[in-house]
Amino acid sequence: MASETIFSKIIRREVPATILYQDELVTAFKDIHPRAPTHILIVPNVLIPTVNDVETEHEAALGRMFTVARKLAAEAGIAENGYRLIMNCNQHGGQEVFHIHMHLVGGKALGAMLS
Ligand code: 5GP
Repeated sequence: MASETIFSKIIRREVPATILYQDELVTAFKDIHPRAPTHILIVPNVLIPTVNDVETEHEAALGRMFTVARKLAAEAGIAENGYRLIMNCNQHGGQEVFHIHMHLVGGKALGAMLS
């Protein structure tokens, strides 16, 4: 059984966070250390430690993460100029919190990532 992270406590509203969206599948909240004017984390409510642990039963939550990203990007006014969605996996991917999350980052030009 995977260990819970701070994100489970945020989802249950046991610790403070600026929650922008929540439904039965996902929760979205502002990153505590924003790297851009808009930096939101979108997480499944169920604990999935890494992308390596994704199963077909998670597809509804994973799909919802994208529709919520689209909605929040529009609400933040960054849809037209564009933004970046990032999911880090394990050590080489730079993952620090082992509850999968999508970073929605925008509000400034981010440049090419893999150049
Ligand atoms: P990772 O490197 O795992 O992809 O990203 C983890 C992200 O979670 C980081 O951007 C970090 O700032 C954010 N984070 C870590 N702890 C907290 C917290 O307690 N609250 C919030 N809102 N964000 C957090």
